[in-house]
Amino acid sequence: MVGQRVRTRFAPSPTGYLHVGGLRTALYNYLFAKKMKGDFIIRIEDTDQSRKVEGAQRDLIKTLEWAGIVADESPERGGNFGPYIQSERLQIYDKYCKQLLDDNHAYYCFATHEELEENRQLQIKQGLQPKYNRKWLPEEMGGTIPASIIRKKLDEGEPYVIRMKVPDYVSVWFEDIIRGPVEFDSSTIDDQVLMKSDGFPTYHFASVIDDHLMEFTHIIRGEEWLSSMPKHLLLYEFFGWEPPKVAHLPLLLNPDRSKLSKRQGDVAVEDYIRKGYSSDAIVNFVAMLGWNEGEGSEQEVYSMEQLVNKFSLERVGKAGAVFNVEKLNWLEKQYIKNRPTEELVEVIKPVLLAELEQKKSLMPLEIITSETYLEKVIELMRERVGFEHEFVTFSSYFYFEPEAYDDEAVKKRWMVDTNDLLLEFVDILLTIEDFSAANIEAHLKEFVIPKGLKAAVLIHPLRILVSGVSFGPSLYHMLEVLGKETVVRRILKGIEKISFQA
Ligand code: GLU
Repeated sequence: MVGQRVRTRFAPSPTGYLHVGGLRTALYNYLFAKKMKGDFIIRIEDTDQSRKVEGAQRDLIKTLEWAGIVADESPERGGNFGPYIQSERLQIYDKYCKQLLDDNHAYYCFATHEELEENRQLQIKQGLQPKYNRKWLPEEMGGTIPASIIRKKLDEGEPYVIRMKVPDYVSVWFEDIIRGPVEFDSSTIDDQVLMKSDGFPTYHFASVIDDHLMEFTHIIRGEEWLSSMPKHLLLYEFFGWEPPKVAHLPLLLNPDRSKLSKRQGDVAVEDYIRKGYSSDAIVNFVAMLGWNEGEGSEQEVYSMEQLVNKFSLERVGKAGAVFNVEKLNWLEKQYIKNRPTEELVEVIKPVLLAELEQKKSLMPLEIITSETYLEKVIELMRERVGFEHEFVTFSSYFYFEPEAYDDEAVKKRWMVDTNDLLLEFVDILLTIEDFSAANIEAHLKEFVIPKGLKAAVLIHPLRILVSGVSFGPSLYHMLEVLGKETVVRRILKGIEKISFQA
């Protein structure tokens, strides 16, 4: 293995969406491969045909690419070690299975589901860990079934599976990069089914064969696969192959430290994409679920490039990693805060254009869709939005007339003479030539102070009339960006609808 080019893989089953845990596995495999100047490969594990979902493979790969995780070899890109879809490799598994049968490392089993279930229940009742009882182990492998019976069953076309024969009384030991030494006693290992009755291999068999033939140097996967390691290692031993190095990633936990579940939030990466999270924030967040740079580093925001440079399996922890959405939200805000304005313009323009197809704006389209206008909105709203799309959706008053006014705010802010004051102020606004924030502010103060009033008597109602809501960026700047015509129109329209409520 010395000097060998590093090869890692992500091996999803195409059963639906990409789980955030799957994204983390893919990311760590990718980061490690890239850090080591090696290759990252995608292999599709579709040997459980009943769970296969149409289109899932494309969606998985698309979601990974969205996150910036692009494979060097995959079913779509090809490569020298294909096919990369297990259902297209059945002949390969057949060949290796035959070798195990010939070498007495595997045997046919004709047990029915009912029989297996009965046996299982019996063992549970006896307080034993359920395991196949080896009823079909042939005589020449230490069992009781004569070869002639097995041949007869095969000739009659009886359905069967092929099981591996786990050696008795051996201990299987390996070194996990993250967990250190791990040991299993062979008495706890079941005679795993290698080939199912439908002629497809099981995950365990296919993945060992493929991991070897595809020359992976490192297997990085979730902790749930740790207990499968002894079976896999025995298979490597049967074939006389050197196993790859392995690293089992810590579990992902809900904030209450239970295993991450759908019940406590979204687990599909697609859900987060739909909500508007950016790939930068998600990748950054997922990278930190189990990995950190080490003591002395305060850094929390990492680009993919920095992650590639800094990632190491040695700095992945054993303890479960808490999936904290607050942290993701914080990261998303950091990215919005620091993203160059022109990049944000590119992101939000299509969102706005899509909104404009649905809703009519009373403002000149060439203005509100211009770069200069969007840049001004971004500068005012950058600190206030949680997602990029909110420059449009949460800030709709920059493009559309308010559809309603916050009732509570109206009740609180409208006095008997508010509408009269607003009407008078409209006349003043109409006289302002240079409609700048500073000018608007000066005129507003000149208008209210001599009356013995505070600026607030107009500030709040104005905000409600132009935006519909009682919070937002600096009022004077907002008015400047909206422009005189829009501001005046909205005030006049608003006071028609709103009046003082005693
Ligand atoms: N197909 C397995 C899964 O869905 C892959 C496990 C492995 O990486 O070996 O997680």
